Amino acid sequence: MKRVAAWMLCVLAALMPAAQAQTGKPIALPDVAKGVTLRVAYVHNPRFAPLPAAQLDDILAQTAVQLQKHMGLKVAFAAPVELPIIKVFAALSPRTAAQAESQRLDPTTNEFALERMAKHLLKDLQQEGELAAQKRFAASYLLQPPADDSDLAFARALVQTQQALLRNWQQLKGADGQPLIGVDRFNEYAYWNVLGSTALPYEVLVTNQLIASAEWEENSVHSAIRGGVSNGVTTQSRAGRFKLVSVLSTFPFLDDSPQTVQLRGGEVPPVVVANTYMAALLAHELGHQLLHLGHPFANPHCLMTPPAVLRFKQWLADLSPAQCALGSSRGNTPGVVKFASPEVMFR
Ligand SMILES: [Zn+2]
Repeated sequence: MKRVAAWMLCVLAALMPAAQAQTGKPIALPDVAKGVTLRVAYVHNPRFAPLPAAQLDDILAQTAVQLQKHMGLKVAFAAPVELPIIKVFAALSPRTAAQAESQRLDPTTNEFALERMAKHLLKDLQQEGELAAQKRFAASYLLQPPADDSDLAFARALVQTQQALLRNWQQLKGADGQPLIGVDRFNEYAYWNVLGSTALPYEVLVTNQLIASAEWEENSVHSAIRGGVSNGVTTQSRAGRFKLVSVLSTFPFLDDSPQTVQLRGGEVPPVVVANTYMAALLAHELGHQLLHLGHPFANPHCLMTPPAVLRFKQWLADLSPAQCALGSSRGNTPGVVKFASPEVMFR
């Protein structure tokens, strides 16, 4: 699992590192000139508030509008299919599940573990590129400022923030009274990142599950400042039409717990507004899937620039397609993300 830009709120999975380039071709850029219809599954966990079918329909309709507006893409969605989350995860092979398990981390205050995580994170930050822009992006959200100006000190500060916020998620309870994360693996990004190894024939997964976790690999600046939450993930898929699948987690948009509201900057959006945020986020993920776009962190007008923490309101207010043409920066250039093929990722 080498992610490109991984977490978004967006986690971009699986980039194609140079060392892997010899072992297979990256996924080809889809031909979407004539428009595409994407298959959708709603992955339901009964421990979380359900997502009504009509609300999902509204989110998808608005996603199509956003894709047209920001990227000129003509996208339609097939009628969503509902899948119980337990069945989706049960389809993982024992080997793949073991790989995911080896990636995940329990929240920790162990200094040795934190230092190791910081060094791993630094590699991910360097792979993402534009480190100065990432520092500016994160500066006001770090719980403690970096000890010095070095890149490693920045990574350490990110890890400390991520871990502290992740411990906050452990305080929340699900509908069954059990902790919202940690009782199973459904909150773990490392598992979501490999669901495409199964035979799921969908390009889009929408779930009411909170995805919040920490991993050894594939961390990112935007995930760290949100306490390991992924609002969206785009990763390899064997059965996806374009060899990728995009995931939208609705929890960060709809949950009203103090932890979530704080990361949203205090906002408790009406459902109709939250739907607009979710549509923009899903359109962002599909920008990864359909155009292989990255993250143009330096330009806040781009849909492909991830939201800071969960500040969706500010994110949407800043978006302006007229000030973010495709190709206007490296991160917003089609094909800039080189996704390793599913065959390489899941072998
Ligand atoms: Zn992204």
